[in-house]
Amino acid sequence: MKLARTRDGRLIAVRGDQALEVGSALGASGPDPLLSYFDGGGTLERLLAVELDGLPMSPVSAHDLAAPIGRPHKIIGAPVNYLDHKVEMNEQKTIAEYGVFLKANSSVLAPGGDIRLPYTDQRTDQEGELAIVIGRRAHHVTAAQALEFVFGYTAVLDITVRSTEDRSTRKSYDTFTPLGPWIVTADEIPDPDSLDLKCWVGGELRQHTNTRDLIFSVADLVSYASHVMTLEPGDIIASGTPAGVGAISAGQEVAVEIERIGRLSVGVSDDHAIPYAERPGPGRRA
Ligand code: MN
Repeated sequence: MKLARTRDGRLIAVRGDQALEVGSALGASGPDPLLSYFDGGGTLERLLAVELDGLPMSPVSAHDLAAPIGRPHKIIGAPVNYLDHKVEMNEQKTIAEYGVFLKANSSVLAPGGDIRLPYTDQRTDQEGELAIVIGRRAHHVTAAQALEFVFGYTAVLDITVRSTEDRSTRKSYDTFTPLGPWIVTADEIPDPDSLDLKCWVGGELRQHTNTRDLIFSVADLVSYASHVMTLEPGDIIASGTPAGVGAISAGQEVAVEIERIGRLSVGVSDDHAIPYAERPGPGRRA
């Protein structure tokens, strides 16, 4: 099932150009209906038991969709989880040494929205990635068990400023986590470690990989993250980016497309960008 959230807050199943009102069938409402569903004990199994054919239907277009989850409890990132990205960044270490990092949950951006560049003079990069959506509370799960805790998959852009700050700062600016356009439920992707992934900036293909090249596979990553912190339903894990990251600039389209999932596309704006030296700090109170 392709599960999406509309800009007016409905949880829908997308079938072609039609929206089926699965959220009302589940009693899932509120501004973040999938999170409400999870918070009420909702599971993937109960969702998949809904008879879609009988549900009210209406036309839906890409412009109608928000991020499938607007404020996940956590967004977890995977640094250096492809060897070719390690090489391009001259990294000496991988996720095996770095572990995982956190991005602010306020950084989520809807499909079709604009990434806002924070600085006029610092490089901001795209990172196209497969996102894992957790469906059951997970604590110390083994890799062999890990996929049972996955609700589904979507596309994510882990937008990153290449400045000197800590990763969690550089990746947490508002709009830095475009997510969507929908979640494909895990039953439709039995093997998440064999998905083709492409990412374009301004129409130029910059990244092309397959998730079989992940250093920590999807199951390894869920297992490792659950060893560090309890994973809650609706938590997002961005699985890491391959080679081909680079600067994005105002007016460009950034798009990531993943096999069996779909295409997430956003714009870039520098409307509120400032010189790096003018960011808030001691003695800078203008
Ligand atoms: Mn990343």
